[in-house]
Amino acid sequence: MLQGGCLCAAIRYEIIGTLRDARSCHCSQCRKIFSGAGSAYAELSADAEFRWISGRDTLKVYKTHENWGMAFCSNCGSTICGMFNDNVHGLTLGSIDGDPGVEIEKHIFVGSKAPWDHIGGSAPQYAEHAEP
Ligand SMILES: [Zn+2]
Ligand SMILES: [Zn+2]
Repeated sequence: MLQGGCLCAAIRYEIIGTLRDARSCHCSQCRKIFSGAGSAYAELSADAEFRWISGRDTLKVYKTHENWGMAFCSNCGSTICGMFNDNVHGLTLGSIDGDPGVEIEKHIFVGSKAPWDHIGGSAPQYAEHAEP
């Protein structure tokens, strides 16, 4: 079981199951959302069960697209998860305690990365979306 939460610990969650498709997106929007070089994000596996332990009412969702949003703690500002139609779609890897069981397997939108961002590791890099 995985657990995670925000910096101030108001928000806590747990996942029974695994994560999939861990990636880092370096687009200008993700840089703002994550206040860093890009995103570090993984989706819930189809059979994974997600549960809020505490702080669901402290969560605030910022809509990024129709039906899509990023949720963060309204107290401390930690970005927690991506939301699709009010359902948790995936988690920010930084909000997970310990080893999330996945590693960044691709870097996307590298074509628009920040000039100060030097991407390390051996995961493939794509100028925009990864090839299907
Ligand atoms: Zn918080
Ligand atoms: Zn992005």
